[in-house]
Amino acid sequence: MSPFPRPDYEALTRYTPDRRPVGIDLSDNTNLWGTHPAALERIRSAGPNDLARYPDLYADRLREAVAHHFGVAVDCVTTGCGSDDVLDSAFRAAGGDSATISFAAPTFSMVEPLARMNGMEVRPTSWPDALDDPGLLLAGAPSVVYVCRPNNPTGEQAPDEWLDELLARVGGDGPLVILDEAYADFAEETRLPTAPDHPRLLVARTASKAYGLAGLRTGFAVACAEVALEVEKSRGPYKVTRLGTDAAAAAVLDEDGWMAGVVRSTIENRRRLSRELDARGYAPLSSRSNFLLFRSLTGAAREDALRLRARDVAVRPFSGIPGMGDGLRVTVGPWSMMEAFLTALDEEIAALEVRS
Ligand SMILES: *Cc1c(COP(=O)(O)O)cnc(C)c1O
Repeated sequence: MSPFPRPDYEALTRYTPDRRPVGIDLSDNTNLWGTHPAALERIRSAGPNDLARYPDLYADRLREAVAHHFGVAVDCVTTGCGSDDVLDSAFRAAGGDSATISFAAPTFSMVEPLARMNGMEVRPTSWPDALDDPGLLLAGAPSVVYVCRPNNPTGEQAPDEWLDELLARVGGDGPLVILDEAYADFAEETRLPTAPDHPRLLVARTASKAYGLAGLRTGFAVACAEVALEVEKSRGPYKVTRLGTDAAAAAVLDEDGWMAGVVRSTIENRRRLSRELDARGYAPLSSRSNFLLFRSLTGAAREDALRLRARDVAVRPFSGIPGMGDGLRVTVGPWSMMEAFLTALDEEIAALEVRS
């Protein structure tokens, strides 16, 4: 009798971050300014056929929008039900018996479970070590190398030369390099348009962060046509809804230039919040993203986050951050929200002083 579930599944758990309702939620890096107006307009214009009929097999309107906006061929674009689905599909195409994935830790928390679900063995290298020598990510000939740039949860951006060296060493027959650019809009730097030039590079994007479409579950990726095709095969048909396809396409085309304002305000408030945290002695890591990671107040991030939540503000706790230990990740948004966060933080700092 075959066991159910398969043995390598047993250590997996459901993803359960603290998602209880809270007044100011700064825990998931979604767009706190709202959603792309062109996407919302498409949803508002929905008719019965948008729901009664199947969508495009492979979200062609979204593929065409990405191809047009970033100047790549349509064949080089693949899509998914969120970029998690793009990662999942890519892992499935690359995975199977004895497949391995390497990455610099800490990184995006979904990578490890998604890799395990696809039967891959996970090989983390420490972020500072990998940053010194990108070759460490290639040790033991992994099937996939995952790089998040800017990195979640640290916000840091691996330098251009570092990425160039990694890609040069991978060459034409090395592992598939998945470059997750979930936050690239806020770094104002991208490798997406040149992804098809490298035979082993897949650049993934989500519509959940800068575009403000997390509730819609759409994402996309660009690679050379051969790699994009393998990921499409693994993804399967009808994965992106009809409204999701059209709304994400409208956001990608960004004809009214809404994105530039969001990016400008995010960068401005990131700098301002960073100075405020500095002034309190909690210097955050240097971030190119829409969030900041700073040292835990007590050394126990989980408890800090619970106490801030009791003050109606949610941030995300992390442990094992190199050079920091426990840390708190806060999403950058409109200044009124940042003020509410700073007020809760100051109250908590004062309460800790009373307690000690
Ligand atoms: C949020 C996030 C995603 C998730 O994207 P979905 O499109 O919502 O699945 C992917 N990668 C990173 C690094 C993220 O932080």
